[in-house]
Amino acid sequence: MNSLNVSPDFPCFPDNAKSLANRYLTKEIYERLIHIKTQYGFTLYDAIRSGLENPDSSIGIYAGDAESYELFSDIFIPIIQHYHSIEVLKHHIKSTTSSSFTSIITDRLDLMESRFPDPDREHKYIISTRIRVARNLNGFPFTPIISTFDRKRVEKIIIQALENIPSPLKGVYRSIQPSLIIKSSFDKSFFRKGDRFQDAAGINRDWPDSRGIFESDDKKFMVWVNEEDHLRVISIDKTGDISGVFKRLIMGVKDIENNLNLKNISFAWNQELGYLTACPSNLGTAMRASVHIKLPNLFKNKHLLNNAATQLQLQIRGTKGENSDVESAVFDISNIQRLGVTEKQCVEILYKGLCKIIELEEDLANYNPLSET
Ligand code: ADP
Ligand code: MG
Repeated sequence: MNSLNVSPDFPCFPDNAKSLANRYLTKEIYERLIHIKTQYGFTLYDAIRSGLENPDSSIGIYAGDAESYELFSDIFIPIIQHYHSIEVLKHHIKSTTSSSFTSIITDRLDLMESRFPDPDREHKYIISTRIRVARNLNGFPFTPIISTFDRKRVEKIIIQALENIPSPLKGVYRSIQPSLIIKSSFDKSFFRKGDRFQDAAGINRDWPDSRGIFESDDKKFMVWVNEEDHLRVISIDKTGDISGVFKRLIMGVKDIENNLNLKNISFAWNQELGYLTACPSNLGTAMRASVHIKLPNLFKNKHLLNNAATQLQLQIRGTKGENSDVESAVFDISNIQRLGVTEKQCVEILYKGLCKIIELEEDLANYNPLSET
């Protein structure tokens, strides 16, 4: 893709812009980076376009390929450090095809063997649990600048990697048809055209070409193809069985990875940043472990929920996902940090946080016995 409208002038973020891109992009960094391009032609201006067009962006920057993180590290590093609350070493950011994912999956086995109890033992609050990881294929640009041709190739490679996936993950792949939103069996989990943030980043180009969903026969395992990343591998259940959802996810990720490796294809990865993703908030494990949880009392006292979430390193989203509203007191609660933590820690943070939040909801219910639970 040709980079659009590269502006030599330091861009003016709107006065009300709150994004991390706005916060950390200085004139000096801009002038140093604005004339360079990755091998796929991605520029700093492409990276920040979404943040410039959307003053309410929280991050405001996307990577167009693996190399973006290395080439534009002067702006990516402070943003990554801020979002994930960790220190990133610039000289470690080197693209690599190494497959030593040890820092991220060291305790994967441990979690596969252990079991977190359901944090909602009486099944009163949790409606569903979903854990997903984002992955991109090495050697292809990411969704903000991928060409129609490469997007199709990525889709084909992923379909092939899913073809012989064994039971209980075996399933079918369906392309997204124009005018048809594929609604998964889990009512609120949609793969839809990206929002205005993704649109401005270039992610919606050619929609819905080469986008699709693989869904297992039991509907609990999914792979979204060419959404925000090449793959979103998803495990989901209508319970609070976090361990079961995690195990299914890891089974699927391993199967896909093994099938890709047979064809000498690996996931984009970097020793300092973990799995590389279009949005820097997803780097590292690229894992978001979430529940949909109904909290009527905390819905009426949102400041208490927000304070608790901050302390517990959790993020609150709306019922239909990022940038959506909370409907019928159903919140999407998930781990914030994905880099600098292991997969087990992502899941543990969600589990421990949920125990506290459910306790808070029950305290509020008991404090006001007339309120609904
Ligand atoms: P992601 O971080 O995976 O990109 P989004 O906020 O974009 O998540 O949401 C993607 C979809 O997944 C949305 O339709 C959202 O409602 C759904 N979703 C997220 N968490 C859950 C959950 N625990 N249960 C059911 N659906 C969920
Ligand atoms: Mg999303």
